[in-house]
Amino acid sequence: MQRITSRIGSRLGATAFRKGGYAPACQVGCGRCFATYKAGCHCGSVEVSCEGKPAWSAICHCSICRRTHSAPYAELLGYPVDKVSVTKGEANLSMYNVDGKSKEDRYFCKKCGGKCYSMLNHLGCKAVFLQNMTTPNHGADGKIDPDFAPSCHIFYTSGTVNFHDKLPKFETLPEAFGGDGKEVANDYHK
Ligand SMILES: [Zn+2]
Ligand SMILES: [Zn+2]
Repeated sequence: MQRITSRIGSRLGATAFRKGGYAPACQVGCGRCFATYKAGCHCGSVEVSCEGKPAWSAICHCSICRRTHSAPYAELLGYPVDKVSVTKGEANLSMYNVDGKSKEDRYFCKKCGGKCYSMLNHLGCKAVFLQNMTTPNHGADGKIDPDFAPSCHIFYTSGTVNFHDKLPKFETLPEAFGGDGKEVANDYHK
């Protein structure tokens, strides 16, 4: 895994750990670095706009993500706070924060229950969810855009499933995100 300190990483108070690094300014004029991408809940009442590619992308296995998403893990795309905005249906949002004890404010659609975004107060950034992106479309065609693909697993030992990909599996978090950076094996869950 290549770790780089980027302009965006220091704005997040952390080192960006995207595989291959994060380019703060486009060198090749790809038009994607400054593009606006969209995410949404299932019923379409809420739309979230994200400016540019995510600063980081990680698969979280923590128990809160698992229960709130009703899934074995959640795929988080990290963005600076000012790069994510609700562009439709803000009145349809509700927020959950584990009785105020969590570091994460989780916003979801009141109508369909779909996850919209989270405010990660401890990291000073926002997260949207890979499967909720409508552009690039990860829904109908099921293809993950390489710029949005996860670069590591976090809270892997809290989870329930093994992954046999080549990504690092952190027991908690990478050091850049305030964790101890301890990694475990793919087959941790026997
Ligand atoms: Zn909805
Ligand atoms: Zn989590």
